[in-house]
Amino acid sequence: MVSRVIPVDDFDLVIFGGTGDLARRKILPGLYLRFVAGQIPDGARIIGAARSEMDVPRYRDMVAEALQEFVPAARYDRDFVAAFLGRVFYVAIDAKGSAGWQVLADMMRSNVVRAFYFSVAPALFGDLAEKLHSYAIAGAQSRIVVEKPFGRDLQSARALNRALALHFSEEQIYRIDHYLGKETVQNLMAVRFANSLFEPLWNARHVDHVQITVAETVGVAGRGSYYDKAGAMRDMVQNHMMQLLCLIAMEAPFRFEADAVRDEKLKVIRALDAVMPDQIVRGQYSATPQQPGYVQDVENPASRSESYVALKVAISNWRWKGTPFYLRTGKRLRARTSEIAIVFKAPPHSIFEQSDGWHENVLVIRLQPNEGMTLSVMIKEPGPGGMRLSEVPLNMSFAEALGDDADDVPDAYERLIMDVIRGNQTLFMRGDEVEAAWAWTDPIIEGWEARGDKPSPYDAGSSGPENALMLMHRDGRRWREIKT
Ligand code: NAP
Repeated sequence: MVSRVIPVDDFDLVIFGGTGDLARRKILPGLYLRFVAGQIPDGARIIGAARSEMDVPRYRDMVAEALQEFVPAARYDRDFVAAFLGRVFYVAIDAKGSAGWQVLADMMRSNVVRAFYFSVAPALFGDLAEKLHSYAIAGAQSRIVVEKPFGRDLQSARALNRALALHFSEEQIYRIDHYLGKETVQNLMAVRFANSLFEPLWNARHVDHVQITVAETVGVAGRGSYYDKAGAMRDMVQNHMMQLLCLIAMEAPFRFEADAVRDEKLKVIRALDAVMPDQIVRGQYSATPQQPGYVQDVENPASRSESYVALKVAISNWRWKGTPFYLRTGKRLRARTSEIAIVFKAPPHSIFEQSDGWHENVLVIRLQPNEGMTLSVMIKEPGPGGMRLSEVPLNMSFAEALGDDADDVPDAYERLIMDVIRGNQTLFMRGDEVEAAWAWTDPIIEGWEARGDKPSPYDAGSSGPENALMLMHRDGRRWREIKT
C-alpha cells in the first residue's frame, strides 16, 4: 500500500500558547511529522505566541527540546529537525494586553492561509478573538482552532460560542475533539458507509446493545486541580464518548462533508433520553499502599468528583429504540484500552444441541492499543467429535494490514491540523452540537449534585466500582473484560 500525502497551500499557523504543554506534546510534534511526510509546503510558517519574552533562536531551542522528547525516536531525524526549525518563529504576546499584537500584525502575509490555534485556557478565547479582529490580523479566510474544554455546562459553552461568533463565522471555527482524528474512528465511518454488509444489521432489530469503554491506567496526578472541577462526565463523556456514540448511531449523511455529517450527529444527541439516577454509577479510585487515591491526587479530601462513570443511554428514534448504549470511562483501571463493541442478538433458534460456549457475534472497534477491528463468529471446532461450536475472532489489525505503512498513519493531531489548513471541518464539532451535548449532560450532573451523591470507591487496577457491574447484570448483560 502506498501512503499518499495530499499537498496543502502555504500557510501561517500561529499557536497561541506556543510554549505550553499541549503545543510541546502534540501540536509541534504533529507538525514536524507532517513536515517529514512532505506535507508542509515551503511557504509555510509556524509562529509560536505566548507572554514569555524570548527571541526566535531561544524558541527554536525550546521546540527542538520538545521534538526530542515527544517525537517517537524512530521518526526523529536531526536533519529534518533542523530544516523544520527554519519554519518556526516566535512573538511574545499577551492575550489580555497590547504587547506583541502589532508585531504579529506586521508579520502576517497576504495570499496564504492564516490559522490561529488557541492552545490557551478557554478564559482567553474571547480576548484572542477580539484582538485578532481589532488588529486586523484575521480576515474572512482565517481559521481559529479551539481546544477542549469547550465550556463546563450549557451556559458557559453558549457564552464561549457567542464570544467567538462576535468576530468569526461558524465556518471559521474548528473545535477540536482529537478522538475524531483517530484512524479507527474514521474507519468506523468507512466500515458503516462504504460497505453494504453492516447496514441491514445496524439497528435495534439486530443489535442487542453497544458498549463504549475508555479505560485508563493513569490517575489524575499532575492535572488534579483541573480534573477535580470537571470529573469524568465533563472530561470524557460530554465530548469524546458522545462523539463515538454519535458516529455509531447516526444515519448515513448524504455526503461525507462537514455539515452533512454534523447534522446527523446532532440528530442523535437530540434523540438521547434523559438519564435516570439508577442508570448511572460514579466512582473514585481508592488509595493503595503503593499509590495515593483520588482525593490525595487532587488534594481535596472532601472531593465528590468522579474518576469513573458508567451509564446506560437510550436513543429514542426508529433505528435504536430498545437498544441500550452502555458507556464507561475511568482512571486507574486494570488496563489502558478504548473500544466500541457492537453486540449482536443471538440467533432466534439453535439447531445445535450444544448449550454451553455460545457467544453472540460482537464487532469490536479498538481505538487503543493496537487500533483495529475484530468480528467474533461462531464456527465448528475442527476435527472429529461431532458438531462442537466455538468462537473465533476475524481479526484485522491496522498495523498488520498496512504493513510498513502503519508507521505513516498520522496521529490525530497531525491529521486535524492539516484539515484546518485545508479548510475541512468534517472532523470538528459544530457549535450547536457542543451545546446539545451539554444540554443532555447538564441535568445528569445537576441531579447528582442536588442529591449530594458520593462516588463509590473502587480499587486501583480493578474494572471499576462493584455497582457498575450491576448496571449490566440487572439487564442480563455483562461488561466486556477490560484488557489490553
Ligand atoms: P499550559 O501548559 O498551561 O500552557 C498555557 C499556554 O498559554 C502557555 O504557552 C502560556 O505561556 C500561554 N498563556 C497564558 N496566559 C497567556 C496570555 N495572557 N497571553 C498569551 N499567552 C498566554 O496549558 P496546556 O496544557 O498547553 O493547555 C492549553 C489548552 O489546551 C487548555 O485549554 C487545555 O485545557 C487544552 N488541552 C490541553 C491538553 C494537554 O494535553 N495539555 C489536552 C487537551 C486540551 P506564557 O505563560 O508564556 O504566556
